[in-house]
Amino acid sequence: RSQQRLSVTWTQYTRALEQHTRAVVTTTRELRSALECNDLRLYYQPKVDMNDGRLVSAEALLRWQHPERGLLPPAAFIPLAEQSQLIAPMGEWVLRQACQDMRQWQDAGLTVAPISVNISLVQFQLGSVPDIVSRALTDFGIAPHQLTLEITESVFEEHCEALKVDLNAINRMGVKLSLDDFGMGYSSLGHLNDYPFDEIKIDKSFIWQLSGRAYGQAIVKAVHAIAEAIGAQVVAEGVESAEHVEALQRLGCWIGQGFYYSRPMPASQWQIQLAGPQGTIQRPTHSS
Ligand code: C2E
Ligand code: MG
Ligand code: MG
Ligand code: MG
Repeated sequence: RSQQRLSVTWTQYTRALEQHTRAVVTTTRELRSALECNDLRLYYQPKVDMNDGRLVSAEALLRWQHPERGLLPPAAFIPLAEQSQLIAPMGEWVLRQACQDMRQWQDAGLTVAPISVNISLVQFQLGSVPDIVSRALTDFGIAPHQLTLEITESVFEEHCEALKVDLNAINRMGVKLSLDDFGMGYSSLGHLNDYPFDEIKIDKSFIWQLSGRAYGQAIVKAVHAIAEAIGAQVVAEGVESAEHVEALQRLGCWIGQGFYYSRPMPASQWQIQLAGPQGTIQRPTHSS
């Protein structure tokens, strides 16, 4: 009898596995066609000087306009893109689209803030990121200092000489490097000084622990001190309220990114924002 139960579980298991595999295969196929059919979109979210609301720069965030499932966030497809190596052409598309958008804004006579683009570590393993970056900059006539690459903390897990060589090459080109989601993963304090980072982004989970909590405040203070020591600027992500802004300002942290200032918005809407008075971010008056 227990053997019978086991075989039922086994059947259920293989069926679930089959279903999962089929879903992965389908989504991967759809993702490939999304690249070909231009169904990917770049949204932009401002990084803001919290003292005066002035726009400092913006982060490009990828979305997939799926023909049936609607607008999908990166969590729904980036892991799959990494597994299937589609992240290479997809990452190149993101870089080139960001440069093309900057080109378009400049041509429209707008003052263009620097743009950050997220780069997956898998992308570094699949091709020459410095070459791809330099080609995109040249093709669209964008100055290197206008571009920042955001890389997550897992960069330190690799201990890979090739990766360090790439990051140094990117740094020498004048493109900026930002350490994303700082504090969430691998304890990286010992390695931080070995890499040419211009910016450290404190993960939103720490910002959400700020209110009245000594621990959250200590983390932000510590990251701030470390950033200062290596000459990097600090960005707080996930700024959602006036209380967050106040707490961060008290700790000497000036640059914030979050729903309090703006949700990520499509390039067309962004162009309107940029055309506003002195590039100041108008906070939405509604409470969404
Ligand atoms: P990330 O780089 O840390 O980006 C910040 C994420 O936090 C974004 O989520 C943004 O919408 C969200 N966020 C910003 N402010 C707030 C806030 O105040 N409250 C809350 N709750 N969330 C906020 P999103 O767009 O879903 O992106 C998730 C992650 O996907 C990104 O995290 C990044 O790691 C990855 N990603 C996005 N675009 C790309 C891309 O083009 N290439 C690669 N390789 N990864 C990307
Ligand atoms: Mg990022
Ligand atoms: Mg982040
Ligand atoms: Mg994050």
